[in-house]
Amino acid sequence: MIASHQLVPDTSMGDLYYWRGSTKGGFSIKYALQLIRTDVDGISEAKWDLAWKVPIQQRVKVFLWLILHNRILCNANRVRRNLSQDPRCPRCGCEEETTIHLLCDCPYAKQIWLSVGGSALYSSFFTGDITSWICINLQANGLTHCDKWPTCFAITLWWIWKWRNCCIFNRTHDIPLHTGTFIRSQVEDTWNAINNALNVQQNMIRIPQMINVRWIAPFDECFVLNTDGASKGTLGTAGGGGVIRDNRGIFYKGFSAHFGVCSAYRAELKAVAIGLDLAQEMDIQRLEIQMDNKACIEVLNNPDFQGGECYHIVRHCRKLIHRTNWTIHLKHCYREGNRVADKLANIGVAHLDSIILYNNPPVAIKSLLREDLEGVTTPRLVT
Ligand SMILES: [Zn+2]
Repeated sequence: MIASHQLVPDTSMGDLYYWRGSTKGGFSIKYALQLIRTDVDGISEAKWDLAWKVPIQQRVKVFLWLILHNRILCNANRVRRNLSQDPRCPRCGCEEETTIHLLCDCPYAKQIWLSVGGSALYSSFFTGDITSWICINLQANGLTHCDKWPTCFAITLWWIWKWRNCCIFNRTHDIPLHTGTFIRSQVEDTWNAINNALNVQQNMIRIPQMINVRWIAPFDECFVLNTDGASKGTLGTAGGGGVIRDNRGIFYKGFSAHFGVCSAYRAELKAVAIGLDLAQEMDIQRLEIQMDNKACIEVLNNPDFQGGECYHIVRHCRKLIHRTNWTIHLKHCYREGNRVADKLANIGVAHLDSIILYNNPPVAIKSLLREDLEGVTTPRLVT
């Protein structure tokens, strides 16, 4: 771990804030959600997944989310928020209209459930606390019902709430006479609409195609630096490698480096930095950098990127890239077109020297260099 961190004697650079949730240091909703999910207790996690995945309209999902947070304004919750002083159920007069009472235990709610049928006909249906009751019904296993039940269950919850409000606001004429028939037709409509949308989506999915990938020399007369980083595991023993060739594919220099323990992302960036130093020593005027890691190319190309634990490496690379006395072009390539650098990176993982420079190609990459020269291709499945 220590071997992968270099002390940077750069006094022009002060301390930096960056978002710890992602490797690159940039904020994203995806990583924020990941952090939130790892911070809360693991027990209640399944319920969010269940509520999110049930085939249902978005507004009903939001309603489920409110129920699971105990946020719907039943009378017990209104009293708790000082919005009312009467916690009783407006329909049956029960002492406290809690969420579970409103949606499950109230005789009016029970009547609706029984009219819907399905799993609601089983006596065990009206048991349990609100979270487990909702979770059991949102997953299709363990109960005797068709796979439409979670949709039916969520829609029934939605209409029980709607009709309860109709009662309060004197709009009982909005409540259908045959609640069960009404809900079942809503379930059918929702089910068909969602499945049609899914079919359209599936038809739009692009069919994977097999392409042949090879190392591609730049068209112009310039040198090519292929680099790659390798890490065994998410945070494992890592190394980097790189090779500098001319646009005919003739080998000039190469290196393999051992980075200790670090992420593949850090290893990729460290490999580019070494490659750039090497190219600078060779006094190259025009250089194309080829690497198979899109995230690194994005970070190196983005002048607004200012964070992340690898920022000092990015900064070092950028300084070199923007040097005035050479022209550098960064290009993404597929891994299959970056095999020499990949091989050298793996050599770097295995050896103990921090860096080995090659003036002549090591035996391990000779055949790969020849294949690149001859334009040998490797198949790759792309979508
Ligand atoms: Zn009631």
